[in-house]
Amino acid sequence: MGKQAKAAICREWNKPVSVETVMIESPRRGEVMIKVAACGVCHSDLSATNGTIPLPPPLVLGHEAAGHVVELGEGVSGLQVGDAVVVSWVAICGRCSYCVAGRPALCDNTQKAAMTLPDGTRRIKDAKGQELNHFAGVAVMAEYATLPVENVIKIDKDIPLDKAALVGCAVMTGVGAAINTAKVAPGSTVAVIGAGGIGLNVIQGAALAGARQIIAIDMADKKLELAQVFGASHIVNPNTDGDAVAKVMALTGGGVDYAFECIGMGATIAQAYNMVRKGGTAVVVGVSKVTDTVTLGAFMMPFSEKVLVGCMYGSARPSTDFPKLLSLYKSHRLKLDELVTATYKIEDVNRAFSDMQSGVNARGVIVF
Ligand SMILES: [Zn+2]
Ligand SMILES: [Zn+2]
Repeated sequence: MGKQAKAAICREWNKPVSVETVMIESPRRGEVMIKVAACGVCHSDLSATNGTIPLPPPLVLGHEAAGHVVELGEGVSGLQVGDAVVVSWVAICGRCSYCVAGRPALCDNTQKAAMTLPDGTRRIKDAKGQELNHFAGVAVMAEYATLPVENVIKIDKDIPLDKAALVGCAVMTGVGAAINTAKVAPGSTVAVIGAGGIGLNVIQGAALAGARQIIAIDMADKKLELAQVFGASHIVNPNTDGDAVAKVMALTGGGVDYAFECIGMGATIAQAYNMVRKGGTAVVVGVSKVTDTVTLGAFMMPFSEKVLVGCMYGSARPSTDFPKLLSLYKSHRLKLDELVTATYKIEDVNRAFSDMQSGVNARGVIVF
């Protein structure tokens, strides 16, 4: 059977994204088909269109979505047709050493499911019958998606899906980086480099955790304004304020407890490390180019006992973290409405990408 769906496809790197009608296969054993209601436009989607994330085209984009279950494959329990779900882009096996240790974001399956389902197969064909790759194993910038049941998390039906979608990437990654990965302590000091969709959520995660000083660093004044809405107590624009590390040192008298790099550049990762106090933690959230490297002064490393740590998907445990985040939204402690600053039709996906690059949105969301 299957369903026809409009989908956003990267056909060639550095070319406009193509919107085409494709065929989505019905779910097989252990899979579900969802009707996508909304899909956020994330920087990682852009990175997939220009080869920064080097997954081969043709690639159906999208990894930050919410929708409704429309079909269940064999052997699926715990979900029903009509359930509202948020998509998680980690495919969790539940059995590998990482899953068993409570770190499912590092599941071995996730590496396998970079552009196919975890078993290496695809569920999408174009009008000519050619199979298309699934970005992040989910490919949800499309009206329908078939994916493993482990990739969908049931949520309460009363949450608007264009807001809930953002929990699937930006919010989970950003808030998770602060709360799960770094475990930001109450009364601590925090710096966040890059105040885009992820950075704003690191800021609100740090605020939720009770940080007393949150310094947002970005070159765009518009983003710094938003950063203050999400809880930044100080803003730094290196264009006008000069060197970010020196500025953070001056504001904190010796460095922050935690610094988060949310851009994905070796040079800013080094800045994050350098603006952390002795014994502090620098967290790398941004995804850099494959060829990029980080240069750090070696001499002071033993004397400063700093920690440099990567953050995969906010160290997510989606089945428990997504409902927790959405309950914080319902109790008005987590901002989602303020994140969605524009919505687009799928036909306007290229405008959504160019708006993201020019920094006018906290988050743009494609609604179906
Ligand atoms: Zn993302
Ligand atoms: Zn696993």
